[in-house]
Amino acid sequence: MLFFGLMEKILAFIFGLAWGSFANVCIYRLPRGRSLVMPGSQCPACGHAIPWYDNIPLLSWLILRGKCRFCQARISGRYFLVELMSGCLFLWLFVRYGFSWQFLVLAIFLLSLIIVSFIDIDTYLIPDVIVLPGILVGFASAALVSEFFQDMNIVGRIIYSGVGIFAGGGLLWLIGILGKLAYKKDAMGGGDVKLLAMIGAYLGWKSVLITIFFAALLGSIISLVLIAMKLKKMDDYIPFGPYLALGAVLALAWKGSTFYGFYIP
Ligand SMILES: [Zn+2]
Repeated sequence: MLFFGLMEKILAFIFGLAWGSFANVCIYRLPRGRSLVMPGSQCPACGHAIPWYDNIPLLSWLILRGKCRFCQARISGRYFLVELMSGCLFLWLFVRYGFSWQFLVLAIFLLSLIIVSFIDIDTYLIPDVIVLPGILVGFASAALVSEFFQDMNIVGRIIYSGVGIFAGGGLLWLIGILGKLAYKKDAMGGGDVKLLAMIGAYLGWKSVLITIFFAALLGSIISLVLIAMKLKKMDDYIPFGPYLALGAVLALAWKGSTFYGFYIP
């Protein structure tokens, strides 16, 4: 039994690695308007097709020491990082929920967060093509998967997720308006509003509040550190999507337990 328990966890991790590999493809190709399936993987520098044995998550990057086999161009360590993150997050979900509907739905959710975060870092844009369908998938899952929010019937789940969508979208929209009045420029992109609406759809309104709390806290601390290290300037635009994603992962950690005395379904 112990052996099978371990095998299952390793499989969940490998499953996450494979989807992390796909996330890398999305992060590179979506902003460039390219197809996600055709052609197969290519080196961004020399365009050479990457054979399957050079496309194995984590391992290929390590074996090739982060270089293309054909042109020796550097391959960003981010490919490795995205795969590792996906593997670890899938393993985490599997340990918590087993192989269940909740695992599948939340795996889609976390993968969307990873893709959106890195695209936001690269382009300062959050792709509608991920977050708008995400709002729908989150809402439909909350409604249809009976164990999604503990001790709620379908009406309760629809309300909890629905209020999450509007709380997420509405609160950030309001912060954006206030920020615009205070700083006379756009403080919050429209993409952030839709991203938090998606987070609300999957996790419900209480988790939206936890997400904003952690995103604001981590966003301020990390921005100050980046400015102190002279990696960013005071008036540089700092994408907020990755902090919202980080906040959502932390909110997910409290799902099913109490956060400062408040039960998070
Ligand atoms: Zn190359």
